[in-house]
Amino acid sequence: MDMRLPLKFTEAVPLQDRFQRTLQELRVSVIDRCNFRCTYCMPADSLQGRGFFLPLENLLTDHEIEDMVRAFVDLGVRKLRITGGEPLLRPGLPALVEQLASIPGLNDIALTTNGVMLPRLAGDLADAGLNRITVSLDTLDPKVLEEMSGGRARLEQILDGIQAAEEAGFQQLKINTVVQKGVNDHTVMELVEYFRGTPHRLRLIEFMDVGNSNRWSRDDVVPNAHWVETIGRKWPIAPVGSRNPAETARRYKYLDGEGEIGFISSITQPFCGGCTRARVTADGIFYTCLFADKGTNLMPLLRHADDPGELSRKIASIWAKRNDRYSEQRDLPGHSREKVEMYRLGG
Ligand code: SAM
Ligand code: SF4
Ligand code: SF4
Repeated sequence: MDMRLPLKFTEAVPLQDRFQRTLQELRVSVIDRCNFRCTYCMPADSLQGRGFFLPLENLLTDHEIEDMVRAFVDLGVRKLRITGGEPLLRPGLPALVEQLASIPGLNDIALTTNGVMLPRLAGDLADAGLNRITVSLDTLDPKVLEEMSGGRARLEQILDGIQAAEEAGFQQLKINTVVQKGVNDHTVMELVEYFRGTPHRLRLIEFMDVGNSNRWSRDDVVPNAHWVETIGRKWPIAPVGSRNPAETARRYKYLDGEGEIGFISSITQPFCGGCTRARVTADGIFYTCLFADKGTNLMPLLRHADDPGELSRKIASIWAKRNDRYSEQRDLPGHSREKVEMYRLGG
C-alpha cells in the first residue's frame, strides 16, 4: 500500500506538540533481539523463558517500515535513526537502508550499533546510503566490558567494528558510553584519552532509568558535571554552541584542537524542552517518549487500512496531544510507573 499523503503538511504548518516541539526526528527499532545482554539495558536474568522476543513474523516488514517512514517524513521528519535491540541482527538490513535512503525529504539516516557485526556489514551499509554510525563502547577494559555486556562483548571485536566503519568511509563516528558508578567510571579517562585527537566524538551518557529491569538507582549515576570538570582539568575544554536545539548531547571542544567530546545528561540536566523525537518499536508501536508507559500500535494502519491518509492523520493527532517531559518530572511524587524497555525502543 502506498501511504504517501497527497498534501505535504510540513511545507505549510510544522506539526507541533503541546509544548510547541516540532516533530523532526524518528527512531525506528528494526529488531528487539540482541547478541549482548548489557546489564543496564537487557540484563540476562530479566529475560524469562522462551518466546520473550517478538516472533520475527510480528516485525514490521521492510515495505511497512518504508511506508511508515514516508508518512513521518510527510509530517516533517528529516532525520532517521535505525536502532534495536541490535539492528545489525535484522536480516537484510542494507536492503532496507537502501529503500529508506530513496525517500525524498529524508536528509539523514543514522544507525546505533554495538559494532560487532560491522566488519561484515559496514561496506554494504555505506553503499546502501547510510549517512552516519554510532558505536556503543563502554570501556577499554576487556574484563569490565565483558561484565557490562552480560559476558558477551569482546573488546577487539568492537574495535574491529570501528575500524571497519572507518574503512567503509564513516570517518566521524559517535561513540556512546554509558557510565555507571563503581562499574566503569574508573576507566572513563582512558576512553577519553583514546578518542581524543581522533575525528570520532565520544559521548558520556548518564545511566538512565529506562524500562523496569535494569535496577536503576540514582546512586549509580555519575553526574556529567564531574566529567566536564575532571576532563577539563587535564585537557581544557569549552562548550560548542550548537545550531540544533534538538541535540541530546552537550558538545565541548578541546581547546588544543584535538577534537570534541559530548555529554548526555538526561538525569542531571534534562533536555525535554528540545525533544523533537518520535520512536517506533520493531512491531510498530509508536511512542512519544523514551520513558513512556503506553504507545499506539500503527501496525493495523500499515497492514490493513483502506485509506492511505489514515496513518498520517493518526500520527499527527498523537503528536499534537504530546505533553511528555519525563526527565523533568522524574522526582515528582507518584511519578514512578511501568515503562517500555530500552531494547524495545532503542534509545
Ligand atoms: N544495540 C545497539 C547499541 O547498543 O548501540 C542499539 C540499541 S541500544 C538500546 C541504544 C543505546 O542505548 C546504546 O548506546 C546504549 O548504550 C544506550 N543505553 C541502553 N540502556 C541505557 C541506559 N539504561 N542508560 C543510558 N543509555 C542506555
Ligand atoms: Fe543490546 Fe544495545 Fe541493549 Fe546492549 S545496549 S543489550 S547492545 S540493545
Ligand atoms: Fe524526550 Fe521523554 Fe527524554 Fe524528555 S524524557 S527528552 S520528552 S524522550
